[in-house]
Order: sequence, then C-alpha cells, then structure tokens
Amino acid sequence: YTKKYGKDSFSLYSFELNQETADKLTIERELKSAIRNDEFLIHYQPIMNLKTGEVSAMEALIRWNHPDLGMVPPDRFIPVSEESGQIIAIGKWVLYNACSQNRLWQTRGCVPFRICVNISTIQLQHPNFVSLVKSILEETGLEAKWLELEVTEGILLEDTEILKESLLKLKALGISMSIDDFGTGFTSLNYLRQFSFDRVKIDRSFVQDINNDLNGKAITSTIITLAHKLGMEVVAEGIEDSVQLAYLREELCDEGQGYHFCRPKAADQHDLSVTNKI
Ligand code: C2E
Ligand code: MG
Ligand code: MG
Ligand code: MG
Repeated sequence: YTKKYGKDSFSLYSFELNQETADKLTIERELKSAIRNDEFLIHYQPIMNLKTGEVSAMEALIRWNHPDLGMVPPDRFIPVSEESGQIIAIGKWVLYNACSQNRLWQTRGCVPFRICVNISTIQLQHPNFVSLVKSILEETGLEAKWLELEVTEGILLEDTEILKESLLKLKALGISMSIDDFGTGFTSLNYLRQFSFDRVKIDRSFVQDINNDLNGKAITSTIITLAHKLGMEVVAEGIEDSVQLAYLREELCDEGQGYHFCRPKAADQHDLSVTNKI
C-alpha cells in the first residue's frame, strides 16, 4: 500500500509541476497582447491617515481581465512578467496611468494625496528607469511629491550598485519611496541603515496577527517604534477590523489601508469628497 501511495503521489506531483509550467507559458504568451488589447486596468485602494481619517494616498493595484482566463491576479502574472522581461512595458503602463489618474483627481478639486505605485526590482535596475519616471511626471503634470514608489522588501536582497544608485536618483527627483511587505524579508535593517526610505509598510500578516496572539502586537508596535526612531512613517497593510485599527492607532501608526476602510476599486467607483473623507 505504501508503495502504491508513493507512486501515486509522485505522479500527482509531476502532473502539478507540468501544469504549472504550462500555465506560466500560457500567461507569458497571453501577456504579449494584453496592453495592445486594453486588458489591464488599475484598481485603487485608499491609504488613510489614522489620526485624521482622511485619505493620504491611493495605492495603484494592477488588474488583468483576460477574455478567456478571466481576472488573473497580479500574484500569478507579475512574477511571470518579471522572468520574461514583460514587466518593463507593464510597469511603464501602470506608472503612466496611475500618475495621470492622480493628476486628474487633483484637477477635479480633491485635496492632493500621494499615488503609490508598486515597482519591481527589474524596473528599478533598468538603466532608463529614473528618466522614465521623470518624463512621466512631466507628461502627466504630476508634481514629484505626489508620487511614491513601493519596493518589496524581499527584492532589496539584490544588493547591487545599480539598485543603490537608482534609489538615490529617485529620491533626488523629489518622489517618496516606501518598503512594502516590511518584516517578511531579511535585509531590512541593513537597508534601513543605508537608505532613506520615507515609509515602511507593515506586512498584512503581522496586522492579522494582532487579533490572534501577542506576537502580532509586539511585532507591529516594534516596527512602528523602529521606523519612527529612524525618521520614517509607518503604513499598516490589510486592516480588516476595528480591533486591529484601535491597536494601531494606540501605537501611533501613521497610516493604514485594508478592507475595513475600502477595497481596491476602479477610479470612477471612488466617491471622494473634497475633504478626502470616504
Ligand atoms: P501589495 O503591494 O502588498 O498590495 C497589497 C495587497 O493586499 C493587494 O493585493 C490588496 O488588494 C490586498 N489587500 C488590501 N487590503 C487588504 C485586506 O484588508 N485584506 C487582505 N487579505 N488583502 C488586502 P493584490 O491587488 O492582489 O496585489 C498583490 C500584489 O501584487 C501586491 O502586493 C504587489 O506586490 C503586486 N502588484 C500589484 N500591482 C502591481 C503593479 O502594478 N506592479 C507590480 N510590480 N506589482 C504589483
Ligand atoms: Mg504595495
Ligand atoms: Mg508588494
Ligand atoms: Mg504589501
């Protein structure tokens, strides 16, 4: 019986691997025409000022609506696009559209807030990235101070000179930089020592743990204290209930986002009053 079981689980395992490869190839192939066919869209999720309750920022989150595959989540296609290099074109599309949407909100009379755009390490290491950001700001008319780039902590592991240079040049443009998914990577303290990030975003797994055990509380409050001592602001991701919110406010967390406030949705689905209350 054990032998049979072992054999079955092996074939199941290799079937899953082949399936995974096939899925990746499909995604890579279908991504080629996604921009041309207008299949991408951006959902925006507000980031709230936890002291005033106003919108401080909107995070741009890409969505891919494929005619046959349906909605493909970013976690499934962003890694594929990073491997294939397609992230360069996709990232440019997101950056341009997110900046121009933020400019549109401003011209319509909203109190200005930041637009936060997720950036892949592949983009950050691309030689033209800094000049791309500069020209997108010029083209869209968005002031640099209203753009924030989020880089995931894990990617900072790639400790290359070009990455460091890129970060410094971006800061010099006047945009802000934040570390996404903070606490899940390994190089956090080393990077915090070398670069001036404006914000850290506490990974939502820690925020969720606030309700479950004492470690979630200890970890979130320690990150808040650390960041503040280093002169950075803190954003909590994935706030889903009032218990988490109350704790984070008590610990003086600056900003927060999550389903408790608002799910990510299309720009025209947001009902922003001029006071930025939602
Ligand atoms: P992220 O940057 O950490 O974005 C936050 C993710 O958490 C989003 O997932 C958002 O929809 C989700 N979220 C927000 N509030 C809550 C909550 O209260 N509870 C839970 N469970 N989830 C919440 P999404 O949109 O699926 O994006 C996943 C990841 O894909 C992002 O994580 C980001 O790393 C990446 N991504 C999204 N858009 C882009 C993009 O334009 N470029 C790049 N390079 N990566 C992107
Ligand atoms: Mg993010
Ligand atoms: Mg991320
Ligand atoms: Mg995150």
